[in-house]
Amino acid sequence: MSSLVVDVPQAEELYRSLEAKVRALRPKDDPNVLERAYRFAAEAHSNQRRKSGEPYITHPLSVAHILADMQMDSVCLQTGLLHDVLEDTNVTLEQIRENFGEDVGRCVDGVTKLTKISFANREDRQAESLRKMLLAMTTDIRVIIVKLADRLHNLRTIASLPRERQETIAQETIDIYAPIAHRLGMGKIRGELEDLSFQTLHPEAAADLIREIESKRQEYENWLKQVQSEIEQRLTRENIPARVEGRVKRAYSVYLKLKRQKITLDQVYDIVAIRIITDSVKNCYAALGVIHNEWHPVPGRIKDFIAMPRPNLYQSLHTSVIGPGGVTFEVQIRTEEMHRIAEEGIAAHWKYKEGSKGPGLEDQRIAWLRQLVEWQRDMKDSGDFLSTVKMDLYGEEVYTFTPRGRVIVLPRDATPIDFAYAIHSDVGNTCVGARVNGTIRPLKSTLRNGDVVEILTQPGHQPSRDWLAVVKTARARNKIRHLINAVERAKAVEIGQKSLEKEARRMGVNLGRLSNNDLAAVASEYGVSKTDDLYAALGFGRFSARQVLQKVAPEQSTPAPEPAPQLPLPPSIPQLQTDAALANGDLTIHVKGADDVLVYRAKCCNAVRGEQIVGYITRGKGIAVHSLQCPNVQKLLYEPERKIAVEWARSASDPLPVKVVIYTDDRPGILHKLTSILDAEKSNIRTLEARGDEKRTDNSAIIDITIDVKDKKQLERVISAFRRVPGVRDIERMQNVI
Ligand code: MN
Repeated sequence: MSSLVVDVPQAEELYRSLEAKVRALRPKDDPNVLERAYRFAAEAHSNQRRKSGEPYITHPLSVAHILADMQMDSVCLQTGLLHDVLEDTNVTLEQIRENFGEDVGRCVDGVTKLTKISFANREDRQAESLRKMLLAMTTDIRVIIVKLADRLHNLRTIASLPRERQETIAQETIDIYAPIAHRLGMGKIRGELEDLSFQTLHPEAAADLIREIESKRQEYENWLKQVQSEIEQRLTRENIPARVEGRVKRAYSVYLKLKRQKITLDQVYDIVAIRIITDSVKNCYAALGVIHNEWHPVPGRIKDFIAMPRPNLYQSLHTSVIGPGGVTFEVQIRTEEMHRIAEEGIAAHWKYKEGSKGPGLEDQRIAWLRQLVEWQRDMKDSGDFLSTVKMDLYGEEVYTFTPRGRVIVLPRDATPIDFAYAIHSDVGNTCVGARVNGTIRPLKSTLRNGDVVEILTQPGHQPSRDWLAVVKTARARNKIRHLINAVERAKAVEIGQKSLEKEARRMGVNLGRLSNNDLAAVASEYGVSKTDDLYAALGFGRFSARQVLQKVAPEQSTPAPEPAPQLPLPPSIPQLQTDAALANGDLTIHVKGADDVLVYRAKCCNAVRGEQIVGYITRGKGIAVHSLQCPNVQKLLYEPERKIAVEWARSASDPLPVKVVIYTDDRPGILHKLTSILDAEKSNIRTLEARGDEKRTDNSAIIDITIDVKDKKQLERVISAFRRVPGVRDIERMQNVI
């Protein structure tokens, strides 16, 4: 690099004017701190230059100037001066912390991190999630403010960059930074960011438009002056204190309007706008009355953002009226406070912080800020929130990164396992460890915003069942469950096949002589479609090898005394409640005055015939029948209107309603098969409801059915017939739980 002798005065001068600005606007800030940050940054960047040839330090100095104009605090300004040293020089974060303290260290680190994020493609950039991510990752709002100032200066000096780089920066600004400024209510910065980006991206259109606006500027301004003074006179006459501003709108907003409405400049009615700034909300409405009294409002263009503030807390009354010479123009009416918020948004807090001595005003500002950024937590010390501000705008999501910078959005408290499955199910299935920000961390640890996660995999590794308890994403859970089921099934098939072979040897059946078709036929008899399913069912113990062999080769098997053909139920299915009274078939309960209701005996007391009983109307589960002696009956008395008289029925054959839940594949015809079983049993269906299983994604369905059965035997018959219907996965008899 060439000698800096010539350049130093330029930087020095920029610094002096910065210091003067700060002295004037924030007299209480310590100028020594500022100077130290400047010297430090100047030293660190001493042999770097911008593309324009200027010494690099002029950039951080200019950023600090922008921040000083916004009357930002000292931490902000120091951060502005130091914001590029971590990225571009050998200075470490530790050094920044040692020299300038925690706050500056955190902010410089934050700005550096934001700068490093690459917005790979257009779609990514436009996603709201990226803007959310930026905000969520920012634990100190000043990081965003410095970043916006940095971007603004980059755009102001963009001409010296290569064309391609210019376009990237401008597009990124339109897609990400301008919307963030908007979200934070910083209208002024947003306007300049947009106009500069517009001029970069569409130089011709911008030039044309600006030329056109400029050519009419004199005309517009004359017209505005006239309207302005007319309004001022009328407001004075009505005793409404106000200042009236006239302005020609910003090029980019005019451009968007032209594009959106496919009109030409001559037709744009609100190129010009009037703003009335008054002292109170009451006078805002009064001023609106004055305007509407004078000129005709355009229907549908009156908007009350005072009563209904925008999400970024923007407040104003808007109206468009047909003014002198038939020119339509927009009028915005607001108080000083609303104006400040509209222009500066979140940044207004720092600017006016010192002016407010009363705690009341301070509290109000904090309340406003709190509302603005919608944070609820992490605000313990409202007195000095600068150091405690934590933006938890989107607390439900965590933004993490692959080592290559791809953004992976996960729910809060997600683990590296979730991350791995979000990348690819193979990565999830084979993951054995994770490196988070370069450090090995347990797979079950939780990820934080901004974590860079690298997943370590091991071919052939399989997920463990206890992962199910820690993962936070449905995707990971489903994939893990799916794989575990597949593995267990494979084991069951193996076990089933072996046990069949063993039993065959024991029974003297020559399995080799049986064709696969024979087994397949038996399989279908058991309600499974493939031989493998038959093995799996054997492996899971759903039925015995002996039973299968007797079916498959009855002539070969010794007709050993078979135990009652009661199928052992798979362990996941609860055994039917043995209910002696039910088995007798003489236990039914009548609800007095009502026939067609679901009645069940409450499990807490299991009332038996002969006891005094009382019914209780439950919410959605029918009538629970308790013994009068049941302690729960006393507790239930607080809603006496839900009590209902019941009695034991005389008839022994009255059927009992039973609710059964059937888990099935979601396939056509299954309902018909189930109901025809009930037809054959002459069992009445009381209610039937099929629904998708929202907890699963594997095309399964749940059928709730309430049927009448005469006794336990019939119920068992029905259930085992259900079980044989292809596609039925599991059946559960509802427990009678209050
Ligand atoms: Mn910079």
